Amino acid sequence: MSKDPSTLLLEHHLKALKLPTFLSDYVAVAANCAQERRDYPTFLLRLAERELIERERRAADRRVKDARFPVLKTIESFEFGAQASLNEALVRRLLVGQYIAARENVLLVGNPGTGKTHLATALGYAACSQGRRVRFVTASALVTQLLEAREDRNLRRLLKGMERVELLIIDELGYVPFSKAGAELLFDVVSRAYERTSLIVTTNLPFENWTEVLGSERLTGAMLDRLTHRVHILEANGESYRLKDAKARLKRK
Ligand code: ADP
Ligand code: MG
Repeated sequence: MSKDPSTLLLEHHLKALKLPTFLSDYVAVAANCAQERRDYPTFLLRLAERELIERERRAADRRVKDARFPVLKTIESFEFGAQASLNEALVRRLLVGQYIAARENVLLVGNPGTGKTHLATALGYAACSQGRRVRFVTASALVTQLLEAREDRNLRRLLKGMERVELLIIDELGYVPFSKAGAELLFDVVSRAYERTSLIVTTNLPFENWTEVLGSERLTGAMLDRLTHRVHILEANGESYRLKDAKARLKRK
């Protein structure tokens, strides 16, 4: 059955107005409203509600994509029982996201495999659903990007772009030592974020060993000073989850 001219026009207008949910749902919602004998404002309200919900969902999806998480992990799949040393109450509080409004930082410290990246991702994901702009990057990728940008005279642009982010997650500080220039650029990012952007930093290194990756003691001191001015520290010092998992599987065999 071909559509009548007024239907064609309506659908054209809804597209032009960028109301995809109005377009896809108006026939069904109209039928429901007719059946329930609802008035016109109710019909309009229902469609507007659907459009808003869909729009928010799409925006959250976009923020998750823009954050560039390596693997999407949420708190639902995190077993707190497997990491007894971790402060669960603090994790739950951080998931609410108030620390981002307060421009506070989070440091996740612990041995490899204790769920630091998982938790940082889960916090980032929660922030995306709360409407925050988030960016996830490993410390070494960030330093490489910074060095390359400087080489190409794009550093200012890269730094400006990072300032638009509300939560910057720097994963795996401590695995690879940086060059002097690299450490200085990383320090620059941390200083610019100071009281402006929240940082989540994950590391396997206790503070006293940070000089090993950053090189200079003075720089390490200045960086820790800014990072830890207003900080929540989460420590996970249990056994590696992967290791425990593997051992459990071996035992079952
Ligand atoms: P880290 O960053 O501390 O080295 P990861 O977060 O990468 O550790 O964790 C390693 C793997 O184990 C990941 O697949 C992660 O999802 C999983 N994992 C770690 N801890 C837990 C946990 N407590 N509950 C569920 N999965 C976990
Ligand atoms: Mg990790």
